[in-house]
Amino acid sequence: MSDQPVALYRLGDKGNAVRTIRALLQATGDLAPSTIAASDVYDEEVADAVRAFQQRRGLIVDGVLGPHTNIALHGARWKLGDRMLSHIPGHMLQGDDVAELQERLLSLGFTPDRVDGVFGPSTEQAVRRFQGGVGLAVDGNAGPETLRAFADLTRSVSGGSPHTLREEELVRTSGHRLLGRIVVLDPGHGGDDTGTIAHGLTESEVTLDLARRIEGRLSAIGVTVLFTRSATTGPDDLLRATMANQAHADIMLSLHCDSTDQSQASGVATFFWGLERFGAWSAVGEHLANLIQREIVSRTGLADCRSHPRGWQLLQRTQMPTVRIEAGYLSHPEDAARLADPAFLDTLAEAIVIALQRMYLGEDDTNATGVLSLGDLRAYNAKHRASTE
Ligand SMILES: [Zn+2]
Repeated sequence: MSDQPVALYRLGDKGNAVRTIRALLQATGDLAPSTIAASDVYDEEVADAVRAFQQRRGLIVDGVLGPHTNIALHGARWKLGDRMLSHIPGHMLQGDDVAELQERLLSLGFTPDRVDGVFGPSTEQAVRRFQGGVGLAVDGNAGPETLRAFADLTRSVSGGSPHTLREEELVRTSGHRLLGRIVVLDPGHGGDDTGTIAHGLTESEVTLDLARRIEGRLSAIGVTVLFTRSATTGPDDLLRATMANQAHADIMLSLHCDSTDQSQASGVATFFWGLERFGAWSAVGEHLANLIQREIVSRTGLADCRSHPRGWQLLQRTQMPTVRIEAGYLSHPEDAARLADPAFLDTLAEAIVIALQRMYLGEDDTNATGVLSLGDLRAYNAKHRASTE
């Protein structure tokens, strides 16, 4: 979130960035849902919607999407509980959910420096002090158990009804087997290495965009998500594998788009570690690659280029099941057109998250609630009640 493009967009501009701006303005309710599907023009309607958004946010009202408005607009889609919040140096999370977290910390006497919607070191310190005070594991991450503690404390402090957190419902209904897992997302390329550029799309940007959409969904169900790179860095594959190993990740997903000079080639393929020649392969990696392949093909209709074993360095050097996804061909006009559509990237992200959930469905879930220190929280609340009565 911290490295959204800082370019300026204004009346008359056109392109994929404008398409995204329109979608975000529709999500905030400032722009009416378009009758023209996925327009990419910054027209009068968009300028008016930007003005309305700026007015509400106390920003300079000029109808131009500069850096400040851009950050506020990208942050506006997040509500507290949508994702795991933590301090990530070099990739600081920003959004309305962070501001809400800061307000709650403030109201309970755990003061971050300021309520600015940026999860920096001082917010992390405040979260740590809060966790220590409540008796939760002190890790500085505002995950499901910390948010639940907020809800309970808000109730006992103010006497009002508890704030219902969307993530609680999500965890209960579908995600609990993924709760507490660590998934490393590896957006392909980055830095000076753009990957393929074709049909107005840049592979390194598409993979990062897709990774962020996966991140939002996984965080909402209590998965810790780590990135191998930011918008400006491009580590080599060995370093990416080392990062995942050091994070003790449960799963690593490497995101790419394919390309070739044969213009007919299209579709999605997945790869897992394996050397056919030696009959050696990662069985879990193959299983996950198959699940991802199946979900993407059935949900998107992309051509099925199947799952394959490969001896690539990233797959070989990682100590956890790793799957590389080549989601569509940027060299293929129809694949590229679909990848340019944010709604299509959402569908892709959805398919990948569902595949991960499916992988864990068969497992016993004795550890599913292991990260929730509910006993500690109950003890705190009992003590709190006793001291106020
Ligand atoms: Zn690539």
